[in-house]
Amino acid sequence: MGAHRRAVVAAVLLWLLAGPGAWAASPIAAAGVALAPPVEGGVIFGQARDILTESPVAGAFVHLEGGQGGAYTDAGGYYRLPTPPGEWTVAVRAPGYLDMSQTRVRALVGRSTRADFDMVVANPTPAQEEELFRRMVTPPEQAWSPDFDVAMASAPTSIRVLMPDGQVVEMDLEEYVKGVVPQELPPSAPMEALKAQAVAARSYAVTSWNHAAQGANVCTTTHCQVWKNVHFSRTDQAVEATRGVFATYRGSIIRAFYFGHCDGHTRNSEDVWVQALPYCRSVACECGYTWLWGHGVGMCQEGAIAMARRGATFDEILRHYYTGISLIGMQPTPTPEPTATPTPTPEPVVTFTWPLQTGWNLISIPVVVSDTTPGSLFSSIAGNYDMVMQYDAFAPYARWKVYQAGSASQTGGLDYLDLRYGIWLRATAPCTLTVSGLAITTPTEIPLINGLNLVAYPSLRARNVSDALASIAGKYVRVYAYRADRPDSPWVLYDFTVPPELNPLQQMTPGLGYWIEMVQPANWRVDP
Ligand SMILES: [Zn+2]
Ligand SMILES: [Zn+2]
Repeated sequence: MGAHRRAVVAAVLLWLLAGPGAWAASPIAAAGVALAPPVEGGVIFGQARDILTESPVAGAFVHLEGGQGGAYTDAGGYYRLPTPPGEWTVAVRAPGYLDMSQTRVRALVGRSTRADFDMVVANPTPAQEEELFRRMVTPPEQAWSPDFDVAMASAPTSIRVLMPDGQVVEMDLEEYVKGVVPQELPPSAPMEALKAQAVAARSYAVTSWNHAAQGANVCTTTHCQVWKNVHFSRTDQAVEATRGVFATYRGSIIRAFYFGHCDGHTRNSEDVWVQALPYCRSVACECGYTWLWGHGVGMCQEGAIAMARRGATFDEILRHYYTGISLIGMQPTPTPEPTATPTPTPEPVVTFTWPLQTGWNLISIPVVVSDTTPGSLFSSIAGNYDMVMQYDAFAPYARWKVYQAGSASQTGGLDYLDLRYGIWLRATAPCTLTVSGLAITTPTEIPLINGLNLVAYPSLRARNVSDALASIAGKYVRVYAYRADRPDSPWVLYDFTVPPELNPLQQMTPGLGYWIEMVQPANWRVDP
C-alpha cells in the first residue's frame, strides 16, 4: 500500500471513528447555495413546506432530473435553480420526508417559474396518517355515467386529459396514473394499498368518457379523479409495480369506483345510482369508521389501507371490493409480436442472508422491503447488535443518523433506513442477518453529491467496479469497501487512476456498503 493510499484510508478511518457530529463541517455548499453555475435560461424557484405543519423545510436538496447540480433550500424553505429553457422535472429530497417531484415545470428565458413542494413525512404517526388522509385525499365524485365498455384486448396506453386551462393533453396512461395516486391516497400509505389504488385509478380512467364533448376521457378534478403533476417516489413505485394491470369482469375493464371510507360496509351500485354492476356489490369493510365519506360504491380507500396494514396484497384488496373480478396485466400492444405471450411476471420473494462480525459492519440490503424501520429490518439479529448508522450526504448538518437498539430515547433520527444508501451496523456477537423481501427488478437511481457518499449496492449480482459504476463514469474517483471479516486491513480501495486489475477492490458485491467519492453530483443507476 503506497503512502498516498495509506493516508486516504487513514483519513476515512478517522472520519468514521470520530463518529456522529464530526461531519458537520463538511465542505458541501451551505444551505441555499446553488451547486450549479448560472446558465442562459430561466429560474425555477419555490418553497418546500411540511404539508402537515405548513412550516418550511430547510436543507432539502432540489435538482432537475437529467440536469446538473442542484440547490439546497434555505432556512425559509426556499430554493432557486438557474435552469436551461425547457420543460423539466424538479425533484426534491429531504431527510425524514418522502422523495417527491413535479413534472412539466416550464423554464422560460429570462423568466422565473415557481414550483412549491408540500412534503410528506416518511414515517407518520397514526395521528399524522389520519391528518394526511384528510388533507391529501380528495375522493372523486365519479358521477354516474353510462358504461363505456372497454375490452381488455383494446386497453389503451395513453389517455386524453382535460387540463384546468381547457387544453386537452394526450399523455401516457402510466404517467397519468402516477399523477392521480398521490392525490387519492397519502403517499405514505402501505405499498399494497397504493398498488390497489393505482389499478383502480387506471381502470377507472380508461373506462371514462366523461368529457367526450371536449374530446377528453377525464378532467383533473374530483368530477373524474384528481390529477396533478406532483409525483412521489413511493407512489410512482406502486404504479410501476402494477404497470398495465387492469381489473376486469368477463373480459371488460371495470368501472373501478372508489371513495374515501364507508361505515362498515360498501354499497350496491344500484342503491346509489341506477345500474346494478355485478362487480359493485355491498361488502363488509374493516376501515373502522361509522359514517360514510363519498359515494360508497366500490373500493373503500381507508379500508384498503386497513387491509394492507394487516398484510393483504393489492390483488386481495381489489378482489375484496370488486366482486368476481380478474386482474389482467398486459404489455402495450402497438407492436404485436406473434411470438410474444405477455404474462405478468410475479415478483419473486428473495431471502437475503449476510454474516456479521462482532463490531462495525458496512452493509447494504439488496432486496425490496416495505418496512424499513431498523427494528423490523434487523429483527433476525435482535439482541446481537446495538447500533445502526446511516450517512445522509444531502443533509446540510447532522448528516449521521443513528439508531440505538433497545434505547427508549430515539434521539438519533434514524427512524427508517433508506436502502439506497449504505448501513453501518455494530454487532455485539457474530450472527447472520436474514432479510426477506421482493427481488429488485428495475434499476435503482441513487442521487450522489460531490464528495463522499455512503451507498448501498442494490443488486443481487456482483459486478466489476467500473461496470457497476458505468453510469457515473468520470464523475467518481475512489470507492471504499469495509470488510469486517478482515479485521487487520478492513478497508479495500478502488482508485480510478490505478488500472482496474491493480486495484485491491475488484468487484461490487451484494451485501456490502461502499463509500463513493464523487467529483461532481450525479445519479448512479444500479441495474438489478
Ligand atoms: Zn371530469
Ligand atoms: Zn370502509
